[in-house]
Amino acid sequence: MSNKYKNKNLSQNFVSKLSKFRFECTQCGQCCRNIKPEDKVLLTSIDIWRMAKALDKDVPEFIGEYCDLVPGGESMLPLLVLKDRMDGSCIMLKKGKCSVHEGKPLVCALNPLGRILFLNEVTNEQEFRYFLREDDCIGGQGKEQSVQDFLDEIDVEQYDESIKLYKRLGGVLSKMMHEAKTIEEKRELFQTSFFLMYAKLNKDVDIYGQLAQNLAFIQSIDPSRGFDKEQLS
Ligand code: SF4
Ligand code: SF4
Repeated sequence: MSNKYKNKNLSQNFVSKLSKFRFECTQCGQCCRNIKPEDKVLLTSIDIWRMAKALDKDVPEFIGEYCDLVPGGESMLPLLVLKDRMDGSCIMLKKGKCSVHEGKPLVCALNPLGRILFLNEVTNEQEFRYFLREDDCIGGQGKEQSVQDFLDEIDVEQYDESIKLYKRLGGVLSKMMHEAKTIEEKRELFQTSFFLMYAKLNKDVDIYGQLAQNLAFIQSIDPSRGFDKEQLS
């Protein structure tokens, strides 16, 4: 599945967690083929960690084998997407099915739902809001269920706090990138971002704790003085 749905539906009506819809994935793999360059599956730290764990590979090995590094545009951060094959199919698609089904990226696991993280101005808390994607997926004929039941079944909400932390980490690093004055500073920050967001992660250690530690580390740094490589190890 590509992340094209996210982009197409930003103006979409949101649904409550009590809303009902019909869906049951047949694992036909249709949404994992013909992925356009602009629709590649963008991976968060949590996705990288989950997939490395599911495939029992260390994170740097997983990244080298399955990910492409792409420029982060406005954020200026290193971003990772899943590789695809010459025919446009996702590298994880094997024998017509997702080979990392149990640990697949959350954007794939959530299909046919999409979600956006908002700041609730009343509570001042970040919260996810959900919408239904419109696509040709044949799973739309499946069983009727509420949004909450679907979320409970795929159990992605256990990662929500980690995702909020990942976004905060990205926000701090992106701000530092924008404020960096020299090319050398930016280059060093780019490498540090790659390390803290992805390469430093240990698949055998709780992801929330690792992101919290990496966030605390970067918040304690004065980038103009450079990074102590030993602190990063
Ligand atoms: S990770 Fe799995 S579900 Fe997601 S696009 Fe690739 S093959 Fe499809
Ligand atoms: S049923 Fe839908 S979500 Fe499941 S693999 Fe097929 S196209 Fe993708």
